[in-house]
Amino acid sequence: MEVINVNRVEQTVIPAGSKGPTTMPVVIAVPKELAPGEQRVATVPEVVQKLTKSGHEVRIEHDAGTGAYYPDELFTAAGAKIASSPTDLLNGARIVLRVQPPTVAEVDQLAEGTIVIGFMNATRNLEAVAKMRDRKVTAFALELVPRITRAQGMDAISSQATAGGYMAAILGAGNCPKFLPMLTTAAGTIRPATVLILGAGVAGLMAIATAKRLGAIVEAYDVRRAAGEQVRSLGAKFLELEINAEGKGGYARELTPEEKVKEQQMVSAAVAQADIIITTAAIPGRKAPVLITKETVATMRPGAVIIDIAAESGGNCELTQAGKTIREHGVLIIGPQNLPARVPFHTSQMYAKNLQSFLALLIDKDGAIVRQFTDEILTASLLVHAGTVHHKQTSDLLNGRKL
Ligand code: NAD
Repeated sequence: MEVINVNRVEQTVIPAGSKGPTTMPVVIAVPKELAPGEQRVATVPEVVQKLTKSGHEVRIEHDAGTGAYYPDELFTAAGAKIASSPTDLLNGARIVLRVQPPTVAEVDQLAEGTIVIGFMNATRNLEAVAKMRDRKVTAFALELVPRITRAQGMDAISSQATAGGYMAAILGAGNCPKFLPMLTTAAGTIRPATVLILGAGVAGLMAIATAKRLGAIVEAYDVRRAAGEQVRSLGAKFLELEINAEGKGGYARELTPEEKVKEQQMVSAAVAQADIIITTAAIPGRKAPVLITKETVATMRPGAVIIDIAAESGGNCELTQAGKTIREHGVLIIGPQNLPARVPFHTSQMYAKNLQSFLALLIDKDGAIVRQFTDEILTASLLVHAGTVHHKQTSDLLNGRKL
């Protein structure tokens, strides 16, 4: 196993005349997220209370929680200090908790040896990664946390995907010209709407559960056959195809060209009958597979809605435009960006708990930052440390671009 030394040990001080080492409080800083549309915050008062009780100092940048409905006063009541500027926030901070990756300008404000934890989106954020390397900042990327049982509490990809699936179903219902449930009224009987979910991973399963609760008829499809049981357990119909593309670590593998043709034929037939389609299909590190071609869109019911959660990684519908809503052949195609930020109160709470679990690996029982990142979760998620980029794919890209 790779052993990474943390070269800074100045946290432990031995005051003159004392019997043993005393641990200085770790200063944990939480900046206001500046990315457009980002409403989440990396910690919440409930978690701050636990951290301050353990002896750490938590600083929150003024207004950092406002977008998620956690005002400064709640953080103060939980024991945090409110910093009025980034300089006050970061002065002496050892750990910075973030939601979105830092920009180059934000990295410039960090002192050497600062540990930043959050989503890093490293392969698409090369300049900032290079800056962290050059400033000898340490960065842990939550998207690199391995999906092993022990790491479930810090699986921020899953906690945020849960919100993405939920919001996709709500968006679909809000844009559909039909009721979702069956209604028997004095003005006649209304047939329930059909919702089709393509990709039944974490987000897809949450979309299924939400659409079911809204009363729709729900069908779902995934290339991993194992997903069938989960889909059926939620009361939805699983569309069967003679393909099982379960790859490494429980993720899907890319389909062969023949499998892709079979899949598109089967998907097209189901798509043409659906009122709302929520697409979530993704293959880690690759462009999202196209499941709905423009020809298929032309066969859909007018008024049908596609919510393409995979929009940011290329889209599962050929016509999707990330961040835009378009209408083609009477079909509304929505390519939402950052759905978790639309439920910021709860997604911040879940994310904060993920970070709290992660911090429990990084800070030992005596309240000091661990001296070696030997835990496999820390090793896997360590993106940059002491001037070296540890994530191979990112490091190769940086070398290729000579950054
Ligand atoms: P993801 O976001 O990478 O992909 C979403 C879904 O799209 C997946 O279910 C995938 O199978 C599906 N997909 C890919 N290509 C497709 C295609 N051509 N057609 C139809 N569907 C396609 O996945 P995810 O939601 O992050 O989860 C993937 C797996 O990881 C699941 O098996 C999940 O149970 C597992 N997981 C494990 C843990 C853990 O053990 N701690 C935590 C979270 C998720």
